[in-house]
Parts: sequence; C-alpha cells; structure tokens
Amino acid sequence: MISSMPKWIGDLFAGSLRPNVKILKTSYISSQIKRIRFQGNISKMNLQIGYANVIRVSETEYRNYTVASHDTIAGTLDIVFHIHGNGVGSRYIDALKTGDELFISDPRGKKLYDAGSKQQIIFGDETSLGTACSLLPILKQNQQQFHFYFELAEENKHTPQLLGLENCTVFPKNDVFTNEKNIDDLRTSHWRAANFILTGNVKSMQTLRRVLKSSTTGKILSQGYWLEGKKGL
Ligand SMILES: Cc1cc2nc3c(=O)[nH]c(=O)nc-3n(C[C@H](O)[C@H](O)[C@H](O)COP(=O)(O)OP(=O)(O)OC[C@H]3O[C@@H](n4cnc5c(N)ncnc54)[C@H](O)[C@@H]3O)c2cc1C
Repeated sequence: MISSMPKWIGDLFAGSLRPNVKILKTSYISSQIKRIRFQGNISKMNLQIGYANVIRVSETEYRNYTVASHDTIAGTLDIVFHIHGNGVGSRYIDALKTGDELFISDPRGKKLYDAGSKQQIIFGDETSLGTACSLLPILKQNQQQFHFYFELAEENKHTPQLLGLENCTVFPKNDVFTNEKNIDDLRTSHWRAANFILTGNVKSMQTLRRVLKSSTTGKILSQGYWLEGKKGL
C-alpha cells in the first residue's frame, strides 16, 4: 500500500486529494487511544471488514486506518487511532480537533472476515481495536463464538472494554505474542476448527502464524499493520 508520494504528484492530484470529511468530535479512550468521528459523503464507500482508508497526514505522506463503525444515513464514520508518538501520522492525528477538514480515501485492501467457521479468534494490538469494533456486530449477528486477544501497553489495557468489545483477554505487550511457547499454552479445543484473524504488529503475527499453522484446520486471515523501524506499512 502506498505510504508516501512526491509533493509534485500530490499537487498534480490536488483536486482529488482535497478535504472530503470534517471532524464532528474527538475523544481519548486512554492517553494513547483516540477515537474520531468524521462526517462526509460516505454513501459510495465500499466498507468491508479489513479494508483500510488512506489518510493524508502531510504533503507527502499517507497512512492506513480502519473504519471502526459507520452510519450511512448520518454520513459519519469512526476511526480508532493509536497515538504511539513515533511517526508523522501519529502526531498529525493527535493534533486533529473538532471542525478540522481532511482527505480520507475510499476503503480498499484485504477482506479479513470469512463467515465459514462457527468459531472466530481475533488477535491484535492497539492498531487493531478499530478492526475489532467493526467485527463485533457481524460476529454477534451471525451468532458465532468469538474471542478477542489483545497485546496492549499498560495504559491501554482497559480500552477494549471502554470501546464496548466483549469476550476479550488482554496481555501485556512484548510478552505473550512474541513467544511460541506462551501462545501454545493459550491453545484450547476451540482453536482446532476456528478461523483466526491476525492484525497489528508484524513480528507478533509471524510468531502467531507459526504456532497456528500446526494447530488449526480453520483459515488464518492476516494483515500486518506496522513493523518496527518501517514507515507506513
Ligand atoms: C490495513 C491497515 C489498517 C490499519 N488500521 C489502523 C487503525 O485503524 N488504527 C491505527 O492506529 N493504526 C492502523 N494501522 C497502522 C498504521 O497505519 C501504522 O501504525 C502507521 O505506521 C502509523 O504511521 P505513523 O506515521 O504514525 O508512523 P510511521 O512513520 O509509519 O512509522 C514511524 C516509526 O513508528 C513505528 N510505529 C508505527 N506504528 C506504530 C505503533 N502502532 N506502535 C508503535 N510504533 C509504531 C514504526 O515502526 C516506525 O519505526 C493500519 C495499517 C494498515 C496497513
């Protein structure tokens, strides 16, 4: 996915990249998790679970973010952002306030939900909270068994509950998901035929995938959201 574009190309497409949404409200779920409600013409947006929207975060940089929930009639969409403080995107989002206008692209990418299995297990981190919010209503509507596993920093450990997510287990960061033995200890009989949805930190996802490949007959659907030391996945 594209993460930067020379300024002259951005200028060339200035018309199509001009602000198309306005911020209705912002709130901090924790010191690092910010939810923003945007309003605009979203009637033609093809919002699928797992798709991401590109936000223009500087004259030359673009970053991917996921719609957590939307209301087509009111023309609003919510995105849950991790304000990690390491990059241009994070700093740009942190500074956004009610009334600001910006450019958000149409959603596209990889579908992360397959209704085929009765059990759905979802792994992620702070960047995955929005994806989890978008999954919850469909999992409930389809009467599926589901469980969310998050690796979160101490200051964010209550955010799944504050965002209304259910059936969640939270682990400290850099502890469980990067260790194959610890993941193995988590396994339950539910895992055998479950579908797995993995998003977030690429390193954690790679470890999870290695363990899951030998323990499930279900599908493993994954999308890396960020990689240590890499700008804009
Ligand atoms: C399909 C897709 C959907 C996504 N959806 C969301 C979403 O809904 N909400 C959300 O918050 N993010 C989401 N992300 C992740 C987000 O795009 C990245 O975290 C992005 O790198 C942030 O850009 P940045 O400019 O802040 O940092 P960058 O300039 O890209 O990176 C600078 C440095 O920060 C580090 N870094 C990047 N992200 C993190 C992080 N989360 N924690 C700690 N260090 C980090 C990088 O490793 C790098 O060293 C998504 C990514 C993808 C690919």
